[in-house]
Amino acid sequence: MSNPNPDLKARVEELANTRLSDCYQCGKCTAGCPRGDVMDVPPTRIMRAVQIGNVEGAARADSIWRCLSCLTCSARCPKSVNVSGVIDALRQISVENGYLSASSVKITEFQKSFLRNIRRNGRTNETEMGVDFEVRYFLRRFDVMNALNTAALGPKMLTRGKMHFKLGSPVKDKALVKRIFEKCGVEL
Ligand code: SF4
Ligand code: SF4
Repeated sequence: MSNPNPDLKARVEELANTRLSDCYQCGKCTAGCPRGDVMDVPPTRIMRAVQIGNVEGAARADSIWRCLSCLTCSARCPKSVNVSGVIDALRQISVENGYLSASSVKITEFQKSFLRNIRRNGRTNETEMGVDFEVRYFLRRFDVMNALNTAALGPKMLTRGKMHFKLGSPVKDKALVKRIFEKCGVEL
């Protein structure tokens, strides 16, 4: 377990706009979570880790990248703790501080490819996004098995019409999309 870091704990509270000390570990957030079965650290334990200042430990958990941001945990919390907001804050802290595990690198690279695609076209083009992701992920991890699996999958998806070579047309108001990204300060 990492050393407690009060600055990071305060940052989570600020980003999530919630009071961590309100959590009394009832477990309702975990009980209602649709992704609880694939999480290494369930939401209740994430909350406890952050509460005692182990923000780094929580931000290194794979769970935060398995979360769907469905808000069920926040809605069910009897103390109105913004659990989903805490998880969002942890994602941000994880990226900023390089706390990503091997499996979460894949998830974050995919999310970046998705956002780059939206920034470029204003809508997704799956082929373009897929190529962008696979090339960047390979260059980052040199994951040969992943590259071979994808290469085997590509032709099947093309022949079954699940992917197309045709590039999608961008939205009319690309300037608006650009302004949204600038306003959010998204770095990709
Ligand atoms: S539901 Fe709320 S009070 Fe209960 S464990 Fe989760 S965050 Fe804490
Ligand atoms: S927002 Fe995330 S942690 Fe909360 S219930 Fe949904 S999937 Fe689970």
